[in-house]
Amino acid sequence: MEIFVEDIPEEGMDVEATEKDVWLGAVLRNSLGETDCRAKLSLHMTRVEGNVGVDGDVELISHPACDRCLAPFEESESLHIHEVLAPLYESKRQQRLEENLEIELVAEDMEFSFYEGDSIDLGEVVREQITLARPMKHLCKEGCKGLCQRCGKNLNEGPCGCPPQEHKSSFGALKSFQVKGKKAKAKKQASNEKGACRGSSKK
Ligand SMILES: [Zn+2]
Ligand SMILES: [Zn+2]
Repeated sequence: MEIFVEDIPEEGMDVEATEKDVWLGAVLRNSLGETDCRAKLSLHMTRVEGNVGVDGDVELISHPACDRCLAPFEESESLHIHEVLAPLYESKRQQRLEENLEIELVAEDMEFSFYEGDSIDLGEVVREQITLARPMKHLCKEGCKGLCQRCGKNLNEGPCGCPPQEHKSSFGALKSFQVKGKKAKAKKQASNEKGACRGSSKK
């Protein structure tokens, strides 16, 4: 979706789209890797001199696989989009800008990026923002029990046939390991305190 910067009026303009719009459909397939997601995008674009602001929200309904039990599930997300694009001039001015790029990025925070020429690829902006705003982890539900480490059964569907002792012993091993860690820490602290005592008795 190409937007000519000059076409953005002084009062700004609204862009609404859903997955049925060809450009947004392509963005969703590209960033989510699935064909049957739904989306409702509403953006407000502004222009201050050459800088273009893109602000708004996208409501997403997608079908990721749960990171714990691997089952696909329907996930609703509401993502905020906020980006400022500055023109990247050609020739000497661009070179000067690139030399200062590092400093400017630190000063202006990472939401600042650039566009080339006289238009903006809004699809690319939205794709980037969706990728940035989406959480890395997707859980089908809070407290998803995941898969049995031994037989691979989805434990949300009920217990598996693995002997319970096996589960217990692995937890037991973890517990004793944690206790050992705590003890070691406690010992260290005690010796530190002793050191402090000796230090104060010298005074
Ligand atoms: Zn799950
Ligand atoms: Zn099992």
